[in-house]
Amino acid sequence: VSKANIICVGDELLHGAIADRDGAMVASFLRRSGIVATRIVMVGDDYRAIAAELAAASARCDLLVVTGGLGPTSDDQTRDALGFFVGQAVEFDEELWMEIQRTLGRKLRGSNRSQACRPALFSPLLNARGTAPGLIGEVGGCRVVALPGPPGELQGMLDNHGETIVAGLGEYVRIDSVFSVFGVPESRLEDAMRDISRESDSDRVEWHTRAEPYRIVLRLAGGTEESRAERSAELARRIGPQRLAADETTIAAVVIDELRVRGLRLAAAESCTGGMIGSLLTSVPGASDVFWGSCVTYANDAKDRVLDVRSVAEHGAVSEETVREMVGGVLRLAGVSAGIAVSGIAGPDGGTDEKPVGTVWIACALEGKVAAERFQLPGDRDRIRRSATVEALVMLRVMIGGIV
Ligand code: ATP
Repeated sequence: VSKANIICVGDELLHGAIADRDGAMVASFLRRSGIVATRIVMVGDDYRAIAAELAAASARCDLLVVTGGLGPTSDDQTRDALGFFVGQAVEFDEELWMEIQRTLGRKLRGSNRSQACRPALFSPLLNARGTAPGLIGEVGGCRVVALPGPPGELQGMLDNHGETIVAGLGEYVRIDSVFSVFGVPESRLEDAMRDISRESDSDRVEWHTRAEPYRIVLRLAGGTEESRAERSAELARRIGPQRLAADETTIAAVVIDELRVRGLRLAAAESCTGGMIGSLLTSVPGASDVFWGSCVTYANDAKDRVLDVRSVAEHGAVSEETVREMVGGVLRLAGVSAGIAVSGIAGPDGGTDEKPVGTVWIACALEGKVAAERFQLPGDRDRIRRSATVEALVMLRVMIGGIV
């Protein structure tokens, strides 16, 4: 296992003006990466003192992280300490100077020029949140990394350059948050995420989507936990909180959990989904205490014989009356208090002007209340059936949670 030391630079730390936060932040980052921090040292703004610590620490560890002392003023001495330590001059790097300004998107005053200075042995790590880039170099078998002191900047550096910092020494663990999104087209989700990113001036949160048959897995990476939580809360406002859940999960697992907490059992009556709702619910381990079962009543006489549905002749198999009767029938049959019923036209044939392909009626029942809703779902037969499955469970989740 690789060993690391951390050196926090700053007179303020030694004077007791501020309490160290950087040491803990780096230590927990290293811990996540499987690297053991064996020592955290604080040292004042004095390049000789810093260089002495660098020499001592680099002899006993594989990775040395220095925080602070990279600012533009004369009391920021980490760069000079690095130069002194490796016996190299600290020289102005014109290209780095341009790059810092490009990253920040603005021109810097000449007094910031010292931040583009470095000993040749160290390469820069660009800082998206401040003017001071970090520096990284290998010195006699020890990797030495200097990072800016303000905790917000330091966090950004660990998020953006974490992989480089621990490469070959530990296993980099990205700090991210994962969500599952139900029944939202991928293009709409991407538009929403793009808008949210554009409207937010906070630190960089990257997002990635992965579409699967019954969900999209959304990963937010980088930023802070708070900034990622803000993004997901904003997304919930835009797509509806019932369409979002933490972690990689399914709408079936979410509904089963919510019913279990309330001590309720669920039965389903399916026509166009042909058992897909039952299949998704039974893919959740341990569902049997909550899920009674599903009746696949596909033909009209099956709806009649199994569920006592009488409305088909007058209103059609795909109608509000039929799904209401279906859900009532399956509740009676199962003796439970939560129910779902679905009937729709999945196509490619069977559509009419009044009820085109994609027309789906869903009814949900919960403790005596029944709601029915008509959906117009896009796509081919397979997509319509999958969407109907998701919409039925999302609708039940709304009823359970009272989320509207
Ligand atoms: P920059 O040039 O971007 O300001 P820097 O590397 O020069 O960064 P310092 O000058 O050492 O950083 O510190 C700047 C500020 O960052 C300090 O005034 C303090 O508020 C905060 N800071 C620095 N080190 C720590 C630390 N170890 N713990 C908590 N806060 C710190």
